[in-house]
Amino acid sequence: MQFRDLQRQYEALKPAIDHAMVEVASSGTFILGRKVEELESRLAEYVGVRHCVTCGNGTDALYLALRVWGIGPGDAVFVPDFTFFASAEVVSLVGATPVFVDVDEGTFNMSASDLERKIGMVRSTTSLRPKVILAVDLFGLPAEYLVLREIADRNGLLVLEDGAQGFGGCIGDRKACSFGDIGITSFFPAKPLGCYGDGGALFTDNESWADMARSYRAHGRSADKYNNVRVGINSRLDALQAAVLLVKIEVFDNELDAMDAVAAQYTSCFCDRAHCPIVPHGYRSSWAQYTLRFDNAQQRDAFRFAFSKKDVPTQIYYPTPLHLQPVYRDMGEAYCPVATRLSNTVLSLPMHPYLTIEEIERITQ
Ligand SMILES: *Cc1c(COP(=O)(O)O)cnc(C)c1O
Repeated sequence: MQFRDLQRQYEALKPAIDHAMVEVASSGTFILGRKVEELESRLAEYVGVRHCVTCGNGTDALYLALRVWGIGPGDAVFVPDFTFFASAEVVSLVGATPVFVDVDEGTFNMSASDLERKIGMVRSTTSLRPKVILAVDLFGLPAEYLVLREIADRNGLLVLEDGAQGFGGCIGDRKACSFGDIGITSFFPAKPLGCYGDGGALFTDNESWADMARSYRAHGRSADKYNNVRVGINSRLDALQAAVLLVKIEVFDNELDAMDAVAAQYTSCFCDRAHCPIVPHGYRSSWAQYTLRFDNAQQRDAFRFAFSKKDVPTQIYYPTPLHLQPVYRDMGEAYCPVATRLSNTVLSLPMHPYLTIEEIERITQ
């Protein structure tokens, strides 16, 4: 059994994907071009924003957003302490300071009350300028954007939605990656909407930000390719990846439904023995992970051992909160007790749309 079975998805979509890849091979256009433009319009329409700018991966998409906003040295960016490293890495990469915010134990997402505390702390004890709330849709569940937006407006901050895991999620009738002033996602193969290599995208309603992101992703070029108006990077999407994604987006909503069904079975089975993931009323998760939470590390480790004896793969996302990562450990006291506790008590189960009834049975038994 696989944790996320990508071959099975390929088997299901093989004729369409093979056709799309051969079409690219014979077109002679391999980087950006018409396929990528077609994908960008399709994704913008899906998410419900005006502009989609694809790029090389999700980390670059975050980086591009921060460059577009001119975030740099002396700026504070508020990042949840419990997430993949890239969410904070890009902040350091542009020379700004990540300020770690604790998370909510039930949803795993940024805690609004700790965010308020950390904004106050930055204002009263540092000379940093608070600039951006970088919220993460962890494990597929959108962060609490209604509350985060109100805090952002009250404090004059921008919201950057890290939807690398959240693409496909919703709050009401609004889709993930549309909640930030800029939203981003990743098409890394194991993400909810994955391609066959690296890929990423940035979403916004702001046309001049979208234009700047297109410039930054291609060496800071202007409309004239060899006229460089800023220092950018090389971060473009391949036509092959766009072709694969255009096939996969057509079945994506069905895949989300299939994962909702798996999640419901897991929850009805495990809710007596563990804390199952919470999807607040009106929210939808894209189930990048299905993550159980236990009361202590011993219980978690005992469950993990029991699964492994039955050859059920499990993963720990994430074993170390960001403020305890070796590169960030010396930044001073971050005080994120919930994130620290979660790193010792969470366990993610196999989750993908192609789990069989037999596999689900083996896992739940
Ligand atoms: C995967 C991930 C990223 C980075 O995406 P890549 O495409 O791997 O660069 C950023 N943030 C989060 C929360 C992620 O899970």
